[in-house]
Amino acid sequence: MQVSGKTDVVGIFGDPVAHSLSPRMQNAAIQASGLDAVYVPFHVTAVQLCDAVKAIRAMSLRGVNLTIPHKETSCDLVDELDASAQMIGAINTIVNDNGRLKGYNTDGPGLLRALKQELGCDVAGKRVLLLGAGGACRAALVALCQAKVAWVGIANRTGSRSKQLIEEFSAKFSGTAFAEYELGSSLLKTCDEPVDLLVNTTAVGLKGEDFGFPVVDCLKPSGTVFDMVYTPEPTILLAQARARGLAAADGLGMLAAQGEAAFALWFGQAPEPFVMRRALDVSAEI
Ligand code: NAP
Repeated sequence: MQVSGKTDVVGIFGDPVAHSLSPRMQNAAIQASGLDAVYVPFHVTAVQLCDAVKAIRAMSLRGVNLTIPHKETSCDLVDELDASAQMIGAINTIVNDNGRLKGYNTDGPGLLRALKQELGCDVAGKRVLLLGAGGACRAALVALCQAKVAWVGIANRTGSRSKQLIEEFSAKFSGTAFAEYELGSSLLKTCDEPVDLLVNTTAVGLKGEDFGFPVVDCLKPSGTVFDMVYTPEPTILLAQARARGLAAADGLGMLAAQGEAAFALWFGQAPEPFVMRRALDVSAEI
């Protein structure tokens, strides 16, 4: 990679950011596409975020990704929000169009693409149970409703958050039925009809923990499990799903797909297929 005065700079703002796999996969895709660009991790704390977003304009960055803890707060700092990002209330990508900053959220489309690519799962007409009610859940919910799922159940540790999500989104997506559940063993008793797809949008699994009950019991025998968490080892949820013979995938495919969508927004072209995904497989082995 040769950096010159003409090299386009993109990057990621986060705190922490050193662990991020995005530089590895984005730089692999930049190189494979032969673009004169580089992707740089920037350690930006919450108090520095406003200055850092201004610096996108001042330093003519082509754009950035945003990760924890900046996805929600950045919404107020850009000039314009894409319609889906506005509904989600969080962005993971900023595009700098000659000084005008537009915010996007590519997590939801990334989830749909990963479901299709990794598991052959088309969500239209399906019953989907979402675990969680944070930013990743909001992004998933908007994408799933836009893709016309028939039914969404939401189970979150803090029940008031799932209730609020359902109130908000049932008004926006009248074609989808919604139900709220407790995230505990009672879920198995109250989830009256088995679901086609279970998506973990919580952080549970990151430290090797599980939900404390066999959450995969909510699924049909032909069901599918998608765990947004990705660690070098399969999470307990994925291991439980595979032990039951269910189709299951971790969040690496979604990480790659949300990155591919951001790349296309910055550079006006899709990255070479599978380059980002392959770069992540190498990382996961390290
Ligand atoms: P967030 O807004 O902070 O939400 C965290 C969610 O996890 C909340 O619903 C929270 O429940 C729940 N939670 C945390 N600890 C829990 C526990 N011990 N037991 C039960 N629930 C727990 O975070 P986020 O942005 O939505 O991200 C959530 C996860 O998705 C993270 O692991 C992140 O890495 C992953 N993610 C992956 C991708 C990808 O590309 N694969 C993209 C985005 C996010 P409460 O409301 O009760 O606190």
